[in-house]
Amino acid sequence: MAAFESLSSRLQSVFSKLKGKGKVTESDVNDAMREVRLALLEADVNFKVVKDFITKVKEQAIGLEVSKSFTPGMVVVDIVNKELTELMGGTQAKLAKANKPPTVIMMAGLQGAGKTTTTGKLAKLLQKDNHKPLLVACDIYRPAAIKQLQVLGDSIAAPVFSMGDQVSPVQIAEEGLRHAKENGNDYVIIDTAGRLHIDEALMEELKQIHAVVKPDEVLLVVDAMTGQDAVNVAKSFHELLELTGVVLTKLDGDTRGGAALSVKSVTGCPIKFAAMGEKIDSLEPFHPERMASRILG
Ligand code: GDP
Repeated sequence: MAAFESLSSRLQSVFSKLKGKGKVTESDVNDAMREVRLALLEADVNFKVVKDFITKVKEQAIGLEVSKSFTPGMVVVDIVNKELTELMGGTQAKLAKANKPPTVIMMAGLQGAGKTTTTGKLAKLLQKDNHKPLLVACDIYRPAAIKQLQVLGDSIAAPVFSMGDQVSPVQIAEEGLRHAKENGNDYVIIDTAGRLHIDEALMEELKQIHAVVKPDEVLLVVDAMTGQDAVNVAKSFHELLELTGVVLTKLDGDTRGGAALSVKSVTGCPIKFAAMGEKIDSLEPFHPERMASRILG
């Protein structure tokens, strides 16, 4: 099963009925929207997001535009496409860039979300644009996290700054930033520690690192397969840390799409990247319009 597959096939079957119709009545639209609503709820999209979405689509679809069209079914699908795109942020949210390099990117997330892997993938993406990222190993608690980052760094020939696991992450971040300035790295990606759950100690540490390195980006890595849990994690982090973006991982295994379709509306925080696999080159900038087209097939 591929990304969004179950949601996608549900929606496609709803719209295949509409697309062929020469005339679309108000009750056709209502029937279709009832099915869309169910499909979105089953996909684990936040219920309020679903409600607003259906209202917006109906407002437009039951208007003049549709009844005047020669292909009214297609017009409804276009409206849905446009609103799905809006749900996911409308346009691509780009990575911030510091006025004066290095640009500092802080990665945050719960354990297992894919934070360390994504740190390596992001470095690879930046290298493709001829940047020289430095990876900084601040996850000193998870056994093997430092080693994992080093292996990832080696695999793409990106330098990794580490001070072992006996120095405070705040100090490692600070020294890492200095190291980047001295060595001409134009991006610094800081892999912070995760926890199994959000707790005060974690947030305090992240805030301290934030205060010291003053990041241009704070990216929260969440596992898309966890649906609304991912959205709730993002909401909590955003309240405590002011995120600048979300990275959705494991979209390759997410057939439902609930996190992708809810996280921007619920948190106000844009999705900047999507990871679709375990390989180092499986991270992509998140394009809302492409995702919407993918869902609608
Ligand atoms: P961390 O604890 O957040 O640093 O998580 P890791 O980076 O160690 O990732 C946890 C697991 O998720 C690893 O086995 C990764 O290979 C896997 N993983 C990360 N991103 C993706 C993804 O986009 N797709 C898939 N299928 N697996 C992923």
